[in-house]
Amino acid sequence: MNNSLSNSKNLLVMKFGGTSMGSADRIKVAAKLTTDQHAKRPVAIVVSAMSKVTDLLLDSMKKAEAGDEAGLEANLAALTEKHETCCKQLLPEAAQKAALDGVHTLIGEFSKIVKGMLLLGERPLPATDRAVAIGERLSALMIAAYIESQGTPAVAVNAAQVIATDMVFGNATPLMEETRERAAKVIGPLFAKKTLPVVTGFNASTLDGRPTTLGRGGSDFSASILAAALDAEELWIWTDVDGIMTADPRLVPDARVLDEITYAEAAELAYAGAKVLHPRTLAPLVEKGIPVWSKNSFAPEKPGTRIVPQIHAEGGPHAVTSMKDVALVSIEPIGSTISGARLMAEALHALDAADVELLAITSSSYRQNFCFLIKLSELDRALKQLQEEFAIELAHGYVKAPEVDTEVGLLAVVGEGMRGTAGLAGRIFTAISRENINIIAIAQGSSELTIAIAVRRSGLENAVRAVHQECGLSGK
Ligand code: ADP
Ligand code: ASP
Ligand code: MG
Repeated sequence: MNNSLSNSKNLLVMKFGGTSMGSADRIKVAAKLTTDQHAKRPVAIVVSAMSKVTDLLLDSMKKAEAGDEAGLEANLAALTEKHETCCKQLLPEAAQKAALDGVHTLIGEFSKIVKGMLLLGERPLPATDRAVAIGERLSALMIAAYIESQGTPAVAVNAAQVIATDMVFGNATPLMEETRERAAKVIGPLFAKKTLPVVTGFNASTLDGRPTTLGRGGSDFSASILAAALDAEELWIWTDVDGIMTADPRLVPDARVLDEITYAEAAELAYAGAKVLHPRTLAPLVEKGIPVWSKNSFAPEKPGTRIVPQIHAEGGPHAVTSMKDVALVSIEPIGSTISGARLMAEALHALDAADVELLAITSSSYRQNFCFLIKLSELDRALKQLQEEFAIELAHGYVKAPEVDTEVGLLAVVGEGMRGTAGLAGRIFTAISRENINIIAIAQGSSELTIAIAVRRSGLENAVRAVHQECGLSGK
């Protein structure tokens, strides 16, 4: 191993999400949690933008594209005010000027890019990634300045210097070998100097240095990429709830915190809509089995949830999650001229070509029809590509035009070994029907861990509560 990285034995990587970075007071708490650990072992932290800042940046770019100059100026003023206020409340007098200069430089960089967008009436993806990364660069700058002002050497590191990715702007995938090399070069020397690295979440760069981002909520993923690249001993993800829960507590008031879950369960939950983790967070950690803790920065004394490769606990349903912004697309051949299998292959090809994530798929052998669920935000792209893929079949009347239902929601029950639980599916369906909620499609199947059910959107929240109760997950 690289010499400088060998100084980072027992390394702890910690990630602070948007709410944990949401104000000067929250940043002080995050800094204290960091320095408490740093006194005992090497630590690197990964930070999100202050809460709502990423939305504000993206909204500014939309306004620029639409030519809304006044709206854009108002957003820039709000962005500046938020960070200026935070610096003033956070930092001692002596440290304020340098931090404020840094904030103004970064907002200046953002403003230059959005003004270019305003001029062009366009917001190209690469420029969007370059601009949206400013949110994390601002928060990293502020917390690093604060930690320094409290006597611990710390430096803000732009993850574009550390995490290497492919060129899929907006949803990039890390290149782990290159990331390891970059991390050894950039972060290694900081550990050697006992300086605490404060790395921006969410952003990265291509091999030739063009800024990329890892998808919304991507700071969790940044932290796990970094933990893997630096051979960390543990990853702690600080958020605003007590850990991974049996359901989103905003939807199910009696949801309970899970002590422990497996990587696979956490990943299934995240892919099925549990916002508490970015869906790809666990992937980089699998090889080394690095354990993750999900913890509450508002109640740090609570143990949180431990996410590990395997647990010995009983199988069965552990959590229920849901996604409301989904669409159901149904495809049906006309007559028997064309096989359902061939149509399905073409449809899947179209989704892949359009980079659309398939949430669930189900088919009927009798009518050879099938339907699949995708995110509402990807529907237009999917339909366009399906029209192209089926151009000939549509023209010859071999297939009906795809039917779209946008009034659906996806509910998923997740748990290791769930498939072995006799009668579970039946109980889940009954619980949903008891609430008079229409089940539209069932997509158990490929995964041992998940039963996914599409229901009428209007009934989704009630369905989640009913299934949570039926599976015995409610808090005592
Ligand atoms: P952060 O800004 O720290 O990344 P997020 O807002 O992305 O935090 O994720 C935390 C939120 O995830 C919680 O406030 C909670 O409402 C939501 N959530 C959804 N499903 C779950 C779940 N199963 N367990 C815990 N939180 C969940
Ligand atoms: N700030 C980014 C977002 O809001 C990344 C993150 O917070 O994880 O999506
Ligand atoms: Mg998040």
